[in-house]
Amino acid sequence: MKRVSKLVVNMVGGPGRIFESTKSILNELPQGVSLLIATKGQGIESIEEALHAGAKICGENYLQEAIPKIEALSKKFPDVHWHYIGKLQKSKIKRIVKYFDAIETLDSFENALLVSKAAQRLNKLVPVLIEINSGNEPQKSGVLFDEVIPLAEKLADMKGIELKGVMTMGPKVERPEEIRPYFKKTREVFEEMQRAFGKERIEWLSMGTSDTYKIAIEEGSNIVRIGTLIFGSRKY
Ligand SMILES: *Cc1c(COP(=O)(O)O)cnc(C)c1O
Repeated sequence: MKRVSKLVVNMVGGPGRIFESTKSILNELPQGVSLLIATKGQGIESIEEALHAGAKICGENYLQEAIPKIEALSKKFPDVHWHYIGKLQKSKIKRIVKYFDAIETLDSFENALLVSKAAQRLNKLVPVLIEINSGNEPQKSGVLFDEVIPLAEKLADMKGIELKGVMTMGPKVERPEEIRPYFKKTREVFEEMQRAFGKERIEWLSMGTSDTYKIAIEEGSNIVRIGTLIFGSRKY
């Protein structure tokens, strides 16, 4: 008798919440918009639940934290892609290129050279996004709006790198609506890149998080990066 009631409690209270929240976001996203689940701070079981619900892209910020998750999950979910969304550190680029399927946070020519070198050595073609510091904040990484096209021109023909678009975080805002101008400007630069390098090549515009993804989609985002709304609040 005891055993039965425990089982019921587990089924009601435990698994399901992450599955349900992932499903409901996936159902809500318009055609052509992909969900990236931001999995920093989350354990393998939680991530697995979101993947069972149909998530296809995981975003991780820290290499060390990501490696065991990628190793544990990539065999079971071979069609799930892992995007690096953290700050690039020169000493870790080789291994980031090894473990990840794409890099969303390319922020300098120097780092691009290192990505290119590592990719060639591993015989890989790494899709990259240029990260834009759209709020022009000194503490944030990414390049300024004016620097995007000049950097893109240097990356366009680099071996081992496949330039796919841009990503931005945007400044922390009180009300979600306040982020719209930063997303709008990011989309304009994205479209400028499409005109310069071709729409078939420049495909990814990654912007929007739990608080702002609806606005981001209105402004043309086609990858939204969501953590809190799926997994609940976290420490970092
Ligand atoms: C953590 C993180 C997110 C997700 O933020 P939430 O507010 O939890 O949805 C998105 N993008 C990046 C780069 C992140 O580090």
